[in-house]
Amino acid sequence: MDKSKSSRNQIDYSSDKKTKIREILKLLEEEYTEATTELDYTNPFELLVATILAAQCTDRQVNKVTPGLFRKYPGPAEMAALTPEELGKEIYSCGFYKTKSRNIIETSRLLLAEYGGQVPEDMESLTSLPGVGRKTANVVMSNAFGKDAIAVDTHVFRVSNRLGLAAAEDVLNTEKQLMENIPKNKWSEAHHWLIYHGRRVCKARKPDCENCFLQHLCRYQNEGQASDD
Ligand code: SF4
Repeated sequence: MDKSKSSRNQIDYSSDKKTKIREILKLLEEEYTEATTELDYTNPFELLVATILAAQCTDRQVNKVTPGLFRKYPGPAEMAALTPEELGKEIYSCGFYKTKSRNIIETSRLLLAEYGGQVPEDMESLTSLPGVGRKTANVVMSNAFGKDAIAVDTHVFRVSNRLGLAAAEDVLNTEKQLMENIPKNKWSEAHHWLIYHGRRVCKARKPDCENCFLQHLCRYQNEGQASDD
């Protein structure tokens, strides 16, 4: 694409970082107004289990498995009563089913023993559950409880570092920098915008830079693709 033909390319790339970040966020918000989690769920427990299942698996595949799973085992009491083998048969197609089964059963038992069968709402409690790291905790806090949180998954990590919303080598520092660079009331939405952009345009192996509406603002494009993952 001839950059001179794009009206968006009028922005001076040397303009200050905050202006650029504001512009990136504005364009992402305009493009992905409907962005939300692509996992199907009806309550915090279902979202927690679905997010555990989504590790190394597509949301689409998880959504094929969870309706039947939650019909048969709707809450932590039913899930905690299963053996890993029984649960493994249900979630086999999501991959890593042995580990995921053990984690879901143990998490269900802890929810019953420590939290009255409810999913806790804070980071410390959530990350004390087996199979629940910061990313899963942030997804649950943000989507199930409406808290301001920014979960950094593989898409958010890649896209935010390519764009220059963060410049970090690891997920934790990416999360910290995004929290500094994005207004708090936009954290949860920004998580979804970045995932949408990563799935549709800024793909891992072959980003579609030519057709990307953020090309003129992107660090990856403007600094010799130094920030690729
Ligand atoms: S210009 Fe390329 S690297 Fe930058 S956000 Fe768009 S697709 Fe990703």
